[in-house]
Amino acid sequence: MLAFIESTDHELSQQAVVFARGCLGPPDEGGDGTVSVVAVADGTPYAPAAWAQAIVGRIRESAPVVVLAPGTDRGNELLAHVAAILDLPLAANCTDLGGRGGEVATVSRVRWGGSLLEVAHVHGSRLLLTVAPHAVPAAPIEVPVELLTPDLAGAAAVVRERVEVSTAGVSLADAPVVVSGGRGVGSAEGFAVIEELAALLGGAVGCSRAVTSAGWRPHSDQVGQTGTKISPELYIACGISGATQHMAGCKGAKKLLAINPDAEASIFASADYGVIGDLHTVVPAISAELLKARGA
Ligand SMILES: Cc1cc2nc3c(=O)[nH]c(=O)nc-3n(C[C@H](O)[C@H](O)[C@H](O)COP(=O)(O)OP(=O)(O)OC[C@H]3O[C@@H](n4cnc5c(N)ncnc54)[C@H](O)[C@@H]3O)c2cc1C
Repeated sequence: MLAFIESTDHELSQQAVVFARGCLGPPDEGGDGTVSVVAVADGTPYAPAAWAQAIVGRIRESAPVVVLAPGTDRGNELLAHVAAILDLPLAANCTDLGGRGGEVATVSRVRWGGSLLEVAHVHGSRLLLTVAPHAVPAAPIEVPVELLTPDLAGAAAVVRERVEVSTAGVSLADAPVVVSGGRGVGSAEGFAVIEELAALLGGAVGCSRAVTSAGWRPHSDQVGQTGTKISPELYIACGISGATQHMAGCKGAKKLLAINPDAEASIFASADYGVIGDLHTVVPAISAELLKARGA
């Protein structure tokens, strides 16, 4: 059982690292509660090597048996630095911690963009793990957060500015509903119907790589192995064939509705609901029904 701390504070969840001394997990599942959380102080510029040094210092002081970080770009990068400094193995994007005997731990982890679940033995006196995003249900835990202040003097690389891509609404990663378009949309302008339906459902617009390669949408909208991995309540895939690399990004969706005129398209094998038809007819019809139901 993996414990994973999710903060509603975006910066904190980016910066928090969890240390565990005893058995990790809630008390009713055998955990002994010796979990502590460290986070880099708010507003500290991101400097991977310097942040990792601060975490290493804390590891040397408190000698945790397990160190966890989120399986985000930043979490994976930070623990990779820590692993290199301490000469320890790192298991990234884990979905489960099966058990630990002596210095050997069994972990399950996501590989090949989510198309493979691997069970691996990790050897080491200390276990460094990152947790695959959305893979483990978050459990509330009350622990004080200890703030670290990395020494940035002499840091080889310091991130001075981050420019967020502006999204006119809910973000792709967190949206409860995602309406995605693929090559079948036909053009950048064709996304108007996708945008309208997403807005009506309070959701976000996604797309396949065929679409970003064509320049119809930015890469930040791409769902998949080399895009964003999402787990919305509802994923509506319009004009998407269902390639493995696309499905790696949306297999966490609770329900999948596929709209495609090709009844043989592989997306239908993963879909909970399917409409065999032209998205340019079906999507506006769904929007019109929603508006009618709302009396608009
Ligand atoms: C290393 C690697 C990484 C990759 N990473 C990603 C990734 O992160 N995300 C990703 O998406 N892909 C990724 N790909 C690409 C992936 O393999 C597919 O090529 C891509 O997903 C196909 O996109 P698509 O489904 O939009 O296009 P297509 O496969 O061309 O499918 C288009 C679909 O639209 C349907 N269609 C046509 N007209 C209409 C219409 N009027 N109405 C409704 N449907 C219609 C067609 O029947 C067809 O099924 C990756 C590939 C590689 C090799």
